[in-house]
Order: sequence, then structure tokens, then C-alpha cells
Amino acid sequence: MKKIIKLIPLMLILVLALTSCQKNAENSGKPKVYTSFYAMYDFTKTIGGDDIDLTNIVPTGTEPHDFEPTASDMAKLSEADIFIYNGVGMESWADKIIETLPQNVKVICTSEQIPTDGNDPHIWLSPQNAKLQMQAICNVLSEVDSKNAQNYINRLDSYLTQIDEVDTEYKNAELDGKTIFVTHGAYSYLCNDYGMKQVALEGVTGDSDPSPSQMAKVVDQIKSEGISCIFYDPLEGDKMAQAVANEADIQALPLYTFEGDSESRDYVTVMKANLEELKKGI
Ligand SMILES: [Zn+2]
Repeated sequence: MKKIIKLIPLMLILVLALTSCQKNAENSGKPKVYTSFYAMYDFTKTIGGDDIDLTNIVPTGTEPHDFEPTASDMAKLSEADIFIYNGVGMESWADKIIETLPQNVKVICTSEQIPTDGNDPHIWLSPQNAKLQMQAICNVLSEVDSKNAQNYINRLDSYLTQIDEVDTEYKNAELDGKTIFVTHGAYSYLCNDYGMKQVALEGVTGDSDPSPSQMAKVVDQIKSEGISCIFYDPLEGDKMAQAVANEADIQALPLYTFEGDSESRDYVTVMKANLEELKKGI
């Protein structure tokens, strides 16, 4: 009996030690940050680096407009320290979830300080908007994890310089006055920045295929304006673009929306790739 009594405190210590080990393994001490889709994930990864524990909700290769989170996504999100999303209707599912999140989850809408047209949610395709969204992300990370604030600020500063360089490359590419034909109408902010105009086959959410008569009208317009290319987002495939390209006897080229990226590239890399495609196609 004495032996058993002596053993109990020892067992208790062991159990407590094990529990605390598990807790430490589960909770690295880094802020748990959740992002809605790839662009927000990439921006947050660039600024947060190794100082945060980052999870993206929409899988990287998935087109986010029609996404619906699972019950397990929602359960995980309720344990986050921070949830970062784009807004302007990009994540229709997020509005419903935000209402149900516990008070301790800090929710950041990165478009809050940006003038938007309320229709096209793809604001990050304007480098100037992307900079503001990154600044908002840096602010919340620095606030929640103040001991690493300088790390976040340093990463932001060096990335903003790279974005400014890309912006200059776009400005020097003589895009002003050009019209681009696109399948998914995601590029209005990009076009506004550099004086271009987009003609889109689908709407801004890419969820409605054009009718045969709309398609015929676009082909006529392409021919009459002497357009040599139609752009598509590889995330949604090139089927429609190829159909138009064949009909109008032009080429189909990729123009990434950065809603997802199968190669997990960063924003600056994708924006540079887009500029190369624009130069080829206009
Ligand atoms: Zn889109």
C-alpha cells in the first residue's frame, strides 16, 4: 500500500510532464494565422516568414470563387489568432463564418482602406493595392506579436521595394491605351493602373459561360479591332480561350489571377510572368 501511495505523486508528475510536452508541441508560441485564399496566403507568408504558424483555407490549386469551407475548416479557424481575407465579395463564405468566430480571433479585411468599385474583387492585381494589403497584414502581425514587429516591418519594406520595381517595369512597357480580351474579368484594377481596358467573356466571378451569340460578338470585335490574343487564367483552364482563339484565328496566352498557383510562386514572380505574357499578346 505504502508503495502505491509513493508511486501516485510520481505518476502525476509524469502525466503533467507529458501533457505539458504535448501542449508545447501543439502550440509553438507563434501566432496562428489563417488566410482565405492564395494571394492572401502569399502576402502573409512573405511578411510573417518563420515567425508565424500559417494555414491557408482554399487549397492552392483551387479556384476560390465557388469554394465552400468544410466543417473542419470552420472548426480550425475558430482556434486561430488572426484570420486575414480580401473582402469586396471575393470570399462569399467568409462573411457567414466571421459572425460565428469567437471574439479572440482577430479578423482583418485587407481591402478596408482601399477604394474599390464594389464589383470586381481582384484588387491585389494592382501592385499599388497589393502594397496597401501587405501593409494591413504587417500592421496586424506587429500588433498581435509585438516582440517580432521589427521582423515583419523589415520583410514588408524589402518586398515593397520589389513591388515598386515591378510597377516601374509595367509603366515602361507601353501598355497605355491597349485593350486586352480575357476569359475571366479579373483585371480591371490592373488595367486602371496602366491605362488598359479589358473585355471579358465571363463575369468577374467566372461562373457564367458566354452564350453562342455573345461568343460570336466577341469574335467579331476581336477581328475588327485587330486583336492578336485572348488571355486566360490557367487556374480555370484554357478551354474557352482556345475555342475563341480557334474561331478568331488568334493565340491564347495565360494571365494569372493569383487566386491560386500550382507552382506556389510569389506575387512579384507572377506579376513579372504576367507582364511577359502581356508583351507577347498586345
Ligand atoms: Zn476571380
